[in-house]
Amino acid sequence: MRRPVAIAGLAVVGAALAGAQGPPSGLFGFTRAGAEAQQRLERRFLSLPDAARIKTAHEYLAAKPHVAGSPRDKELADWTARSFTDAGLEEVRISTHEVLLPWPLEVSVEMTAPRQWRASMREDPIPGDPYTNLPPEELGLPYHAYSASGEVTADVVYAGSGNPADYDWLAARGVDIRGRIALVRYSVPYSYRGFKALTAQQRGAAGILIYSDPADDGFGKGKVYPDGPWGPPSHIQRGGIVYDFMVPGDPLTPGWASVPGARRINPADAVSLPRIVSAPLSHQDARPILEALKGQRAPKPWQGGLGFDYRVGPGPAKVTLRVKSDDRIRPIWTVTGAIRGRERPDELVIVGNHRDAWIFGGVDPSSGSAALVELARTLGQLSRDGWRPKRTIVFASWDAEEFTLTSSTEWGEEHEEKLRAGAVAYLNVDSAASGPKFSAAAVPSLNRLIAEAAQAVRDPRLRIPIAAAVRARRAEERGALPTGASNELVNNRLGSGSDYTVFLNFLGVPVADLTFDGPYGVYHSMYDNHNWVARIGDPGFSYHAALVSLWGIATLRLATADALPLDPAPYAERLREFSTALRRRSEIAGGKAGVKVMDALREVDASIEALGKESQAFNKRRESALRAADTVVLDTINRRLLRFERSFLASEGIPGRPWYRHLVYAPKYTYAPELLPGIAEALDAADWPRAAAQALKLAAAISRAATVLREE
Ligand SMILES: [Zn+2]
Repeated sequence: MRRPVAIAGLAVVGAALAGAQGPPSGLFGFTRAGAEAQQRLERRFLSLPDAARIKTAHEYLAAKPHVAGSPRDKELADWTARSFTDAGLEEVRISTHEVLLPWPLEVSVEMTAPRQWRASMREDPIPGDPYTNLPPEELGLPYHAYSASGEVTADVVYAGSGNPADYDWLAARGVDIRGRIALVRYSVPYSYRGFKALTAQQRGAAGILIYSDPADDGFGKGKVYPDGPWGPPSHIQRGGIVYDFMVPGDPLTPGWASVPGARRINPADAVSLPRIVSAPLSHQDARPILEALKGQRAPKPWQGGLGFDYRVGPGPAKVTLRVKSDDRIRPIWTVTGAIRGRERPDELVIVGNHRDAWIFGGVDPSSGSAALVELARTLGQLSRDGWRPKRTIVFASWDAEEFTLTSSTEWGEEHEEKLRAGAVAYLNVDSAASGPKFSAAAVPSLNRLIAEAAQAVRDPRLRIPIAAAVRARRAEERGALPTGASNELVNNRLGSGSDYTVFLNFLGVPVADLTFDGPYGVYHSMYDNHNWVARIGDPGFSYHAALVSLWGIATLRLATADALPLDPAPYAERLREFSTALRRRSEIAGGKAGVKVMDALREVDASIEALGKESQAFNKRRESALRAADTVVLDTINRRLLRFERSFLASEGIPGRPWYRHLVYAPKYTYAPELLPGIAEALDAADWPRAAAQALKLAAAISRAATVLREE
């Protein structure tokens, strides 16, 4: 999974490059001697990533459909394990989890009025792209994983993007969704399809159909595949609709690992399982239904690209929607391997990508899977040359991410103790490259590391550092000349939608998510294949190679630095922004009842001030310890940095979502970031006592983080 298109209005925040009191060595986290060795190592490393080899790996990984749990998925797990071994990794293993992984037995959409018509549920072959000539039995049925099984016949209502405000609009005009089938579009900006399913379920709809409007990712955007990056008329966006914003991973083992023989709950008790029947449609298949709708004209923002007036119904289009899933427990496979650390083998720098795809997974995820294997090969080459990191580097090829971030969640739950004790950071790559635009999301403590890594690697086309390419692009988008003053690079607003979730939200590990983006309208369809990537997304695979380089530099620095390259100072800055936004909201909403909340938010502010001060003092101590190469002090500093992110966890989690333990970050139900989620959700619910209590909890957590940094 991943967001198909960057969210509009994304708040991108600054990441200081080498600051005023830069490191003595010019490399964040290194002593002078350490930096010299590191620079030699990095020069050697940067000569290793090979675009042609990545292309060959990609062609193999994306050659056939490999949905999670399938024989081909297992073959690729075995191949990945062999690649890890050949690369020189140690402790290569395939771990099995047994999880609820429904495959479809039947998915059909039939219009019974005003005329008989049946949706094809097929994607059309494209001349010149042999991948798209797949026989139906190999392609499988397009479906929404974890849809309820059932059959419903009802009048259709067009409900725009299927968000709560859309149903409010309908209700205000007397259009009742209850007992009807909602037809909604996958919209851009993206909101997670599971949120659309939940909203339809809560509003009492009998079923939901989600289709790809050409205005969002088809011909309304530009040329469609094979002439351009956008989705052809029959492209279908498959995907999970599970409510993993409540708890991700296997729905039947929430919060514990689904190792073979694990206890399972009854599906009726699983909070993450949808109760509504749901299916995806292409716009080719949605068109006859939309055209048949009468009733009021849909509001302007709901009008799409099909070239006629969209009306909301209800009816006279009547549809029979049938979904039958096999609801089987299936094995899935996580492949891991390691380069063991020489000095601190229990400290883990983890890199990962998911391997499973809805069909071929050209961009999502095989671009990332090919990059992961190349990263293993290139870092493995250094270790075969005799180099050893200080800390252990763990490589992970996840499975069933497309279902509910499944194998990363199960693996994280299984190894909770070891990870909470020793995980330094998790660097995720879902899709490596669908275009040339670098994009990074991370917790604030990783801003500086990512900015420096993006400075060390060149944009393959522009031949300037990636960091400079991003600044130039941002300046151009703002219509200004690049001034060099802006350091916008890392987005510190993390939601969910990929495998970093368990590390951040359950384990309190600093995470980053890296990619190169571009126009991409074939997400989760058959057309997301090797041909799309090789012809459109990244011809030459040079951005794949650049991603391996950047991912590798960040990994090497985390694994080798004398002082962990985590900077707590930007955390205080971001927290200040997040809390200011909440204060504005509670001022507006709270009135007299909000006074207690305001008092509690003042405690939050005081804790943030303390964290800001401690961070500055801590960074100064780190710089002098690095200058003096004082290993005793550096030891203490590293131990503290290892505990820093963990401070933001509350063992009981946020109210209503105990699995989500991080008090700064959680996903909204749409997967968009919910910042300071305990307070934000209480404010949404106008629950002032809860908001005040949550604010005090957050203040305590931030104070813990400040204490971790404080000199004894
Ligand atoms: Zn993905």
